[in-house]
Amino acid sequence: MKDVIKRNILLNPGPVTTSNTVKESLIVPDICHREQEFLNITQNIRNQLKSIVHAGEDYETILFTGSGTAVMDACINSVVPHDKKIAIINNGAYGLRMIQIAKCYQIPYIEISSPDNQNLDISKIEVVLEKHKDISCLAMVHHETTTGLINPLIEVGSLAKQHHCTYIVDAVSSFAGIPINIYKANIDFLFASSNKCLHGMPGIAFTICQVEKLHQTKDIQRSYYLNLFSQYQFVASTGAMRFTPAIQVIYALQKAIDEFFIEGEDNRYLRYLKNSHLLKQGLKKLGFKFYLHASCESPFMQTVHLPQNLGLSFNDIHDQLYAKGFTIYPGKTTGANTFRIANIGEIFEDDILDFLNQLELIIKK
Ligand SMILES: *Cc1c(COP(=O)(O)O)cnc(C)c1O
Repeated sequence: MKDVIKRNILLNPGPVTTSNTVKESLIVPDICHREQEFLNITQNIRNQLKSIVHAGEDYETILFTGSGTAVMDACINSVVPHDKKIAIINNGAYGLRMIQIAKCYQIPYIEISSPDNQNLDISKIEVVLEKHKDISCLAMVHHETTTGLINPLIEVGSLAKQHHCTYIVDAVSSFAGIPINIYKANIDFLFASSNKCLHGMPGIAFTICQVEKLHQTKDIQRSYYLNLFSQYQFVASTGAMRFTPAIQVIYALQKAIDEFFIEGEDNRYLRYLKNSHLLKQGLKKLGFKFYLHASCESPFMQTVHLPQNLGLSFNDIHDQLYAKGFTIYPGKTTGANTFRIANIGEIFEDDILDFLNQLELIIKK
């Protein structure tokens, strides 16, 4: 099959370039999701996902079929008690999305906003938590994919703990890419998806939950489908997922997780970091400038200014690169004309060098 699947180089921040072996894992004999053979796979995946963030017996993984936003929705709507508030840190589009979800369910929230290109000021969060004693949950995005900004996971986690807040973390674009220890960061609910640093196919989202905290949510039901406790309880009593999951995507996810463990947590992170440096050096040489200061930037994603004197729009550059098999991503910054380049997925040094060559040809034409 290798020879028939074209290899595209996806430099957008997910979905990613997958391995041929992951692609091939999608083709399996038809199977019903209530068969033991399939239950064993989902059980195994749930344990493996926990172990990626070093979680033990006191955590449970809950799987959903859907994209990352489905499980973001599930976490926000399932965890905040009816008489409490959630504080949400907003320094990019994904923080904002959590606010929109809270609004949608009419969950009282306090927004803690911070510029999308500056390190988060922890003291600002502290002031809010001190002031509003009815806040019971604190939510933050770890790696803000809007710009590539990294938020201080551990520091904010200890603040949440000090204030007896349930800590909800969007790790969609950092899970399996940046090493995370769920205990060190004091995370109660972490969520992510199959198609970013895990290198799986899109379609599965999951949350890793502190079991005691999860049990405390059993009477909260704002959504029928996207409810954490209902999904957890169904799996706990039957072994099967509550509703028909994306079966083939789960087979591919199993393969992707196996490949993650073969590469190793640190090696994957270091490969990303090395390729990111290579990319950045090359872009600098071509005259590009970066949106974020090096002190808060991602180990695998750059927000790059589009120089005005180039005489090329993002779409011009995108379309020419796309024709050569490379995908870049538009920017999401307000007030600056930027685009984004990520190097997660099955991307290697040669791919980065090929990309830089193509980009040079386009801008020097
Ligand atoms: C990708 C992403 C999501 C989820 O987006 P989907 O399009 O629903 O998969 C959520 N948060 C962050 C930080 C992300 O990068």
